[in-house]
Amino acid sequence: MANAEDTFEPGYDRVVRLDFAERIHRVTSIHVGTRHQRVRVEAGEDQAWEFDPAGRLIVAQEESVSRHRTFDGRIWGHRVIGSNEERRLIDDAGPDDPQVWLARVHGRIRRWMAADAEAVWVRGEGISPLDFARSSLAMTAARSPAILKTEVAWAERIWRQVPVLPPDQYESLVLQISEGCPWDRCRFCSLYRDVPFRERTLEEIERHLDEVLLFVGASAARVHRVFLGQANALLRDTGELLEILQMIRRRIPIADPTLGAGAQRRWLQEHTPSASGFFAFIDAFHKPRPVQDWALLRDAGLRRVYIGLESGDGQRLRALGKPLDPDRAIELVDDLHAAGLPVAVILLTGIAGPEGEAAHREASA
Ligand code: SF4
Repeated sequence: MANAEDTFEPGYDRVVRLDFAERIHRVTSIHVGTRHQRVRVEAGEDQAWEFDPAGRLIVAQEESVSRHRTFDGRIWGHRVIGSNEERRLIDDAGPDDPQVWLARVHGRIRRWMAADAEAVWVRGEGISPLDFARSSLAMTAARSPAILKTEVAWAERIWRQVPVLPPDQYESLVLQISEGCPWDRCRFCSLYRDVPFRERTLEEIERHLDEVLLFVGASAARVHRVFLGQANALLRDTGELLEILQMIRRRIPIADPTLGAGAQRRWLQEHTPSASGFFAFIDAFHKPRPVQDWALLRDAGLRRVYIGLESGDGQRLRALGKPLDPDRAIELVDDLHAAGLPVAVILLTGIAGPEGEAAHREASA
């Protein structure tokens, strides 16, 4: 069997291995490493957790379940069962209360750190990655269930809810420049039913940004993307959007997109807070925006948009209650590409039944 030390996640600086005199939470040793402002703790071959500089959990892998924690404190899970993958929000699918689970993770870190405090934390004096790991894990260990509860309540006050994010945006900083969904009548979606659509004023967004940055604190070092919420944050006029993006950029500078991947990563590490750009959902049934306006938004830092197309089949869209003409969606994607903006299109599966599946698949391809 491979030694755990040999299988430590590649790309991380291995900082230290802690050996315990007895089994603590099923293991006799753990490995601690750092990479890109995050600390990784591995226990055995199938358990690992990553924390940011403020000690907040970012991701966890425990046997077949991987979890991401978003800034608002929600925990998203992804379970692999045999050859099938099941992606689900752990919040919505007991039996584990996510905060109880999180408190348990912090409890483990607390016990592991306490068990080897002297040998490791003193021995590492003056070694920068170890100092970083020590400080992050000390903050992790200090996160008692009471602190977690307070933090969740605080996050709820700031964001109220972040009901959905594209999976590649789970670690993004969400800024809500609007509230709710301007349509809110799709038959399959009740994400914003209690949230009347409203575009926030520049002053409100500025206050929201202040609160968000205060809340994230040292975790800002791990911010690499800003996701603009909620359902259609890009609906408003281009001039207003540009003003908002400029205001955010004064607080969260955006990396020069012409930098290569490595140089951009270094720049992001050297600037806190900072981000590689803005990301947002848009629908394809509100008034079109000229290509040159999309290009202005790209220059202002917009990096990718996500379109909830659901299906390319007009009949299916009518059944779903989505007032979208598939041809219009194609035009929108063409306009975005012409402006140099990458697009992600979201499709629903399993919505057409056996008789409609072929048409749904063909029209969506
Ligand atoms: S447009 Fe999107 S957010 Fe709004 S109701 Fe339809 S699916 Fe939900």
